[in-house]
Amino acid sequence: MTSEKDGRDSPEFKLFMILYAESPANRPASHNFLSPVDFHDTAMPLDFYCWVAVGGDRVVLIDSGCDEKTCRARGHNFMRSPVDGLASLGIKATEVTDVIVTHMHWDHLGNLQEFPNAMLHVHKSEMAHATGCAMCHEPLRRPYDVDQVCDVIRALYADRASFTETVTDIVPGLRVHPVGGHAPGLQVVEVSTARGHVILASDAMHFYYNGDLQNPFPVIVDVRAYLDGLKYLHALAASPEHIIPGHDPQLRSRYPAVPGTTGIWDLSLSPVASK
Ligand SMILES: [Zn+2]
Repeated sequence: MTSEKDGRDSPEFKLFMILYAESPANRPASHNFLSPVDFHDTAMPLDFYCWVAVGGDRVVLIDSGCDEKTCRARGHNFMRSPVDGLASLGIKATEVTDVIVTHMHWDHLGNLQEFPNAMLHVHKSEMAHATGCAMCHEPLRRPYDVDQVCDVIRALYADRASFTETVTDIVPGLRVHPVGGHAPGLQVVEVSTARGHVILASDAMHFYYNGDLQNPFPVIVDVRAYLDGLKYLHALAASPEHIIPGHDPQLRSRYPAVPGTTGIWDLSLSPVASK
């Protein structure tokens, strides 16, 4: 099957979202915005997801989450390994053909040793940032995990790393678009599905509210690039319903859960509730 949004014929993928962790439930809303918000500092917890696109002979993991130890050390509640999430979809970790790294922060880059047959796709600027002199600065280093970064270098030396720079088709129907902002090499992922092209924003938009209020998440390296990225997302998507924020718990009730699984939703189906 193919979809024909913007005149391109693309193979369609099934696209699943795996919830692997959540923040403490009392996380204040003010932690999620660069500028002050009038939310009376109510709780606004954060979810941690990764995504998998399955189509043809490809099993493409989009971010690899992190492991329990790393997650708990950062103060969050680990719920399940992404590998177990894949298993509940009938996918073995060894069957993953590609891992698209939206960016190299700790919550997006773990578990790489679990996917020995996958090619990694990382933006050049992100690799340079995470392995270069920017890491002399603790605030810039904080979102990265040195062991995870070393795993990327190991994959590189094993001929399993590929680097992107501009808009790139990873495989037909799966395209990355660099946007920067939250991290220098942040890339959003456009996935061809039965309901059109779904745009995985990852951390170009943690919450729907970051987009609605044009108010960035406060972990940021370039505010203008972040705001440009929000505009880019909306220009790219056929409708706001085609944009998937990276960390928003609203997603749990917006999309149909995959029957027989826990913590997995089908993003290739239309939303069942409005935000
Ligand atoms: Zn993140």
